[in-house]
Amino acid sequence: MANRIYLCLAHMSEAGWEQKYIQEAFDTNWVVPLGPNVNGFEDDLKQYVRRQESGVRSQETGVWTKEVVALSSGTAAVHLGLLACGVGPGDEVLVQSFTFCASTHPIKYLGATPVMIDSEAETWNMDPQLLEQAIKDRIALTGRKPKAIVPVYLYGMPAKIDEILAVAARYDIPVLEDAAEGFGSRYKGRVVGTFGNFGILSFNGNKMITTSGGGALICPDMEARNRVMWYATQAREAYPYYHHEAVGYNYRMSNICAGIGRGQMIVLDEHIAHHRHIAAKYRDAFAHVEGITFHDEPSDMQSNFWLSTILLDESLHVCGEEHAYEKPVSGAIGGAAGQVHSGGPVHTDCEPNRNVEAMRMALDQAGVESRPLWKPMHRQPVYHDAPAYINGVSEDLFRRGLCLPSGPMVSDADVERIIATILSAIK
Ligand SMILES: *Cc1c(COP(=O)(O)O)cnc(C)c1O
Repeated sequence: MANRIYLCLAHMSEAGWEQKYIQEAFDTNWVVPLGPNVNGFEDDLKQYVRRQESGVRSQETGVWTKEVVALSSGTAAVHLGLLACGVGPGDEVLVQSFTFCASTHPIKYLGATPVMIDSEAETWNMDPQLLEQAIKDRIALTGRKPKAIVPVYLYGMPAKIDEILAVAARYDIPVLEDAAEGFGSRYKGRVVGTFGNFGILSFNGNKMITTSGGGALICPDMEARNRVMWYATQAREAYPYYHHEAVGYNYRMSNICAGIGRGQMIVLDEHIAHHRHIAAKYRDAFAHVEGITFHDEPSDMQSNFWLSTILLDESLHVCGEEHAYEKPVSGAIGGAAGQVHSGGPVHTDCEPNRNVEAMRMALDQAGVESRPLWKPMHRQPVYHDAPAYINGVSEDLFRRGLCLPSGPMVSDADVERIIATILSAIK
């Protein structure tokens, strides 16, 4: 059988830059969560987020003052970003419901309450109108302003960030952009993650670039960066002995991981170009297929197309759909890392349509990993009591959508095989 094709796997540079930087760390005995690679990687990231293609002047955007702190994961970046926005116990945070759980779980770590905001249908990201409605309603209900707004760049697609920022400015609420999936995506020429007060990046094994595991927080200036750095290194006070006046975290990136990151930065633009190339092939292939819609980028936005996604019409019939959901899934879908609970019922009260599950099974049979779109947080049992402002968009997308293999390990021949499998699975 041909090789199995995964959604998005890590891919090291052909020249082996990652190993060179790691070797240097060993040779100089910097096998700790600080060191030359961490500093070098942060510098690379800083240069990257400051490098803008639109003509906007730096004084207006503040891009030139941005600083970056490398952390142990994207989730840690969300956690510290919320902390830096002043989120604490009893506070409310407005967060995009259509996201991966790492956008919302850290809100709970801080003893705060996530308030779920649904998406608009164009970018699939936070709906600015619903956001404003929610702010007004929360203020009326609780007498207090929410502490932060967390839009997400799902699958790398930019959000309507100008509109979101305008709402945030009207109520003076800080914005923490979750760009974990959107590294290198652009909105009107400017890299996402640099619009809000803080921006999150992830370098997990399946993201745009990897450090095996890691993340970063884009900060507005040196002062904010120093504060985040302090929290990330156990909140130490300046004494000859350990002295603590606040609770800190051990969230700094290791010098070994940062070595991988420095190597990956050299191929970031190539990776983005490859993801976009694959997206273009899917776009062309599905343009004339009735019942399948490729999720494309609006004209003033450039997605990194971290994952290409399609929607299946409810009326599209897929071979084997009568057998969808007959058997429970026994492990994490595909090659994904993680331990899952098993033995639960085959159905939940919110799941993808049968034709979507049948398409996933058909691809799986053909050795292709695919995955339903992320299940909105407002439909997750763990968040059943979180306030939610819902227009039905994300749940509808979840029921109809599928993510397709998109990474640098996916070749043109692989894409052709995937497309052929999908077309032959249509009844
Ligand atoms: C992956 C991801 C994160 C968290 O990143 P990790 O590095 O895996 O901790 C946060 N938000 C979103 C939307 C993500 O997809």
